[in-house]
Amino acid sequence: MDTAFNCTQCGKCCHNLHIPLSVREAHEWLSRGHKIKILTEAIPWVKGYSSTDEVLMRKESMTFEGVSGELSIRVMVTLVGYFSDGCPNLDLNQNCTIYESRPLTCRIYPFEMNPKIILDPNNKLCPSEAWQLVKSNQKPSNQLFLIDLQTKNNINKIYADSIQDVRLKELLCISLEIKACSLSNNGYLFHHVDQLKLLEIINKITSNPNASIKDTEKSIDWMIYSLSTKTLEDLNALGSHASYPEPELVDKMLKKTREFISLIP
Ligand code: SF4
Ligand code: SF4
Repeated sequence: MDTAFNCTQCGKCCHNLHIPLSVREAHEWLSRGHKIKILTEAIPWVKGYSSTDEVLMRKESMTFEGVSGELSIRVMVTLVGYFSDGCPNLDLNQNCTIYESRPLTCRIYPFEMNPKIILDPNNKLCPSEAWQLVKSNQKPSNQLFLIDLQTKNNINKIYADSIQDVRLKELLCISLEIKACSLSNNGYLFHHVDQLKLLEIINKITSNPNASIKDTEKSIDWMIYSLSTKTLEDLNALGSHASYPEPELVDKMLKKTREFISLIP
């Protein structure tokens, strides 16, 4: 027997969230007057290392090369639309006003991007009626939940966009002088930037994605922030520039991912 999911259209997944967006979607989001934050994470990486592990290969393809002191890293940049309370695209009847052009992340919820992550209804906002446990004694897994072809295609499209956007995101960091990040799986560092400037820069880099990066600009020396003393000791031992964030940055470090409706793995 199987397990099925049926959206009840309760609208819970349209409230108080951070939604990962492609550069194109971020442009649309900003153009509608909504807000974007930029999230940066460092993944320590042996320079030249090429993995055959599917997840690592994916991470490599969605990140750009960087350094933090003597430590080689790959940098993951995620643009996130955010809002507290209801999404700005909801109308008074709690219907999505951009339904036909809503972001891909909105289209895949509550399914997981990463096939290795087991779908757990307890970690999702959907009410119990949405989960039709046909075989109640079976532990849920992605395999048990029927993912329709359209959702699968949307997941693949998110990966494809993430790979295609790597260069644009590197240009974005350089243009905005973003040089700090969190350590992957160790909290999140958000950058709040001037929204009009961000829109202007996205316009500029998307109209000329092949713009060359000067050698001097190319070598950003990333500062890695962490709230964990042990992590900082480990990073510093590896020669990385790593530090506890300045007081004004602490509230930009998030430890939990609950408010994400989906995160690119
Ligand atoms: S864009 Fe639409 S589907 Fe996505 S969170 Fe907003 S209201 Fe919900
Ligand atoms: S929270 Fe789940 S059931 Fe409710 S609208 Fe979102 S996807 Fe549908």
